[in-house]
Amino acid sequence: MSKLIQIDGQEGGGQMLRTALSLAMITGQPFRMTNIRGKRPKPGLMRQHLTCVRAAVEISDGTADGAEIGSTELVFRAGKVRGGDHRFAIGTAGSTGLLFQTLLPALLHADGASTLRLEGGTHNPLAPPFEFLDHVFLPAIRRMGADATISLLETGFAPAGGGIMEAVIQPSRKLSPVEFHDRGELRSTNIRVPVRHLSLDIAGRILDSALATLPCEDASIERREPGPGRGVTCLVSATFDHVNELTSALGEMGVTAEAVGHRAAKSMRNHIQSGLPVGRWLADQLLLPMALAGGGSFTTGSLDSHVATNISVIGKFLPVKFQIDSIERGRNLIRVHE
Ligand code: AMP
Repeated sequence: MSKLIQIDGQEGGGQMLRTALSLAMITGQPFRMTNIRGKRPKPGLMRQHLTCVRAAVEISDGTADGAEIGSTELVFRAGKVRGGDHRFAIGTAGSTGLLFQTLLPALLHADGASTLRLEGGTHNPLAPPFEFLDHVFLPAIRRMGADATISLLETGFAPAGGGIMEAVIQPSRKLSPVEFHDRGELRSTNIRVPVRHLSLDIAGRILDSALATLPCEDASIERREPGPGRGVTCLVSATFDHVNELTSALGEMGVTAEAVGHRAAKSMRNHIQSGLPVGRWLADQLLLPMALAGGGSFTTGSLDSHVATNISVIGKFLPVKFQIDSIERGRNLIRVHE
């Protein structure tokens, strides 16, 4: 029987847990994680993390000790990952996108095709919105040989939730190493402001503010009624030849419409001006697929703390090495090799 891998979750967030779940399912190695989300304002497992654990138990016929709300310690053992039709409801506005990213690597290694129907939030703070997965994350990992498509059946704005996304995943042979150093030409940009049950004046002010920061011909408000709850978000997307980007900001109480639009558009303006292929979020999300491919490299900007914590978890399960070289101020080259 494989040795229990010990992981201290103190330094990171839910991503350390999600990466450990994915890798435990793929490699069959069990783990114990302590101090889960130790430094987050509400440490331990929240509903969204718990759903990831339960979903991992279900798709891999596994077991989990400590799978309770607020638990800061978990022991997880996977069995064999099963393809097929799986449905999971988070029960709150917890991010369906993060649940998808937990299950996807394992289902790419399953014995057959899978469909997933995930219910919860599709537009959350501190998580990839649906459109980021569709426009940035999935095209990047398709270049590595992954075969997965997603569709948005219902928008679920945090904090109400009630969103639904579906995924179709075909098992792949091993992912292939890919390099992301050149993003190619910028082909198009667009700004979308999905809104539900809030005044169109708010959405209009968000859009105007985004346009003042990043002028763009293709810009529109998208009404998402009928549907659960209410909310608004600003999505700014850029299509390049080789690696796309999508920046976003969610409307919140106490934050002006102008600030929401400006924040999303400014992040994109900075990304376009930087010339970098891989943005802040994609950087930490590429590490696991690249480690599974056994190689690959990319150029990105300043490193978010998720990069270091994700690397520390991956290194416990897989015999890969990450090399990070600072090429000039604010630019980093990350290489993965066996
Ligand atoms: P954690 O904080 O550990 O729960 O991890 C959050 C994950 O969500 C990381 O993989 C981030 O890259 C990702 N993420 C957070 N905000 C965004 C965003 N606005 N767009 C895309 N991905 C995001």
